[in-house]
Amino acid sequence: MKTLQHWIDGKPVEGASGDFGPVFAPATGAQQKQVPLASAEEVDAAVASARAAQRFWATSSLAKRTSVLFRYRELVDAHRVELARLITAEHGKVHSDALGEVARGLEIVELACGIPQQLKGELSTQVSSRVDVAAIRQPVGVVAGITPFNFPAMVPMWMFPLAVACGNAFVLKPSEKVPSAALLLAELATRAGLPEGVLNVVHGDRTAVERLLTHPDVAAVSFVGSTPVARHIHATATAHGKRVQALGGAKNHMTVLPDADLDLAADAAVNAAYGSAGERCMAVSVVVAVGDVADPLVERIRERAAALTIGPGDDPASEMGPLITREHRDRVASYVTGAAAQGATVALDGTGLRVEGREDGHWIGVSLLDHVTPQMDCYRDEIFGPVLSVVRVASYEEAIALVNSSPWGNGTAVFTRDGGAARRFQLEVEAGMVGVNVPIPVPVGYHSFGGWKDSLFGDHHVYGNDGVHFYTRGKVVTTRWPDPADAGINLGFPSNT
Ligand code: NAD
Repeated sequence: MKTLQHWIDGKPVEGASGDFGPVFAPATGAQQKQVPLASAEEVDAAVASARAAQRFWATSSLAKRTSVLFRYRELVDAHRVELARLITAEHGKVHSDALGEVARGLEIVELACGIPQQLKGELSTQVSSRVDVAAIRQPVGVVAGITPFNFPAMVPMWMFPLAVACGNAFVLKPSEKVPSAALLLAELATRAGLPEGVLNVVHGDRTAVERLLTHPDVAAVSFVGSTPVARHIHATATAHGKRVQALGGAKNHMTVLPDADLDLAADAAVNAAYGSAGERCMAVSVVVAVGDVADPLVERIRERAAALTIGPGDDPASEMGPLITREHRDRVASYVTGAAAQGATVALDGTGLRVEGREDGHWIGVSLLDHVTPQMDCYRDEIFGPVLSVVRVASYEEAIALVNSSPWGNGTAVFTRDGGAARRFQLEVEAGMVGVNVPIPVPVGYHSFGGWKDSLFGDHHVYGNDGVHFYTRGKVVTTRWPDPADAGINLGFPSNT
């Protein structure tokens, strides 16, 4: 069985703790690799490498940094297929979907290639007699990134390209369930000319994370994962004086108003609910059907969902792959059976799926739950699987009240042909990312990504201007060059004249 390594100081480093975690092939259920789980001392070694590298990397010119990033962009592009295959093998998602996440990650590398534009400071001349003021932004130091299993390439690429472009060094702790894509991304960065130690990958579990959160040389933490862990990360790392952005889980609602095009809405609901087997933080997990659209909409979704092809991610015929672990599959299935017991109508039940020849894979089919109420567990919890709940409401007002009562506020969408209703929705809804007839409104790289409420702890969204702001800190320089006119003693508070 293959044993993976960390990536520290620009090279692979064997795990020294003696602890390993299993990496499964979700399509077969078999363990295919083992990943080292770092001890606190191994994390310290990675942070020390980053700390040393950051001191000179921060002084490297913007021209140097961007030339590395341009080469990196080309290398990642040339390795798209290899990255996607690694993702499919460990995560299970279909190859086209894995290619899609690499493409979205590359957007942020491209954004980072333009970092000189983003890092331009501000200058005010003659703010007082012979006094100028310049505002500049400088790197924060060593940044730790802790990422989830469901986007093994894209989420790390939301973080480290911008962080290193801003002059920081980065220690990435990827999900131990899907560790290989991060390793290839780091190796490619070294090949692109990123100096040793500027980007390190340390595998691990809670032990490694806790050390990063409390390490005195870590200045900032970017986290993406589930809400309980995000809350813990934010509380712990801020208590240790770090700046933190911690993105959490989600329960994204798609509101369908009575005038919507129901065929388009049904297509969108199926794509957004069952794509990547629902293991996306921007997946639609609740359709809010307003007025009399419910019956025809549910029927359209049911027809489309029932026709989906589920199979191994490396089979081009598959539209949806398996779930990440057997335990997660069983947990997802329990929500479908639980919903029936709590009074929902199970319009489609995916729990009995068998895939010929791969019986031990982490399979589950797609489920559609109708007549769901906010009191049911399937509505209240983030299921993170291919289960779509439909809540029926009578009016727009009831719909917006329902969406806004959710503790999460990541993405949301409204489907309508009415511009006035869409405008009202985007102003009234409490979520960080809103789609109008767009079910998964993931912002492009030059806008920022982030939710509200329990979907994000901290002040900054990731990438875009917020990302640059998060990975830099401001400094304001007030300058006066010696002039005889400024001579003399004056103990008064400086005022501008
Ligand atoms: P997770 O919270 O279990 O794990 C995320 C990371 O935290 C991993 O690297 C893991 O090793 C580490 N971790 C897990 N438990 C920990 C603990 N107790 N203490 C310290 N570190 C711990 O999340 P996951 O299951 O890997 O990913 C799925 C979750 O991520 C879902 O809730 C999903 O909505 C969320 N997610 C959110 C976004 C977003 O942008 N808001 C994007 C992707 C995924």
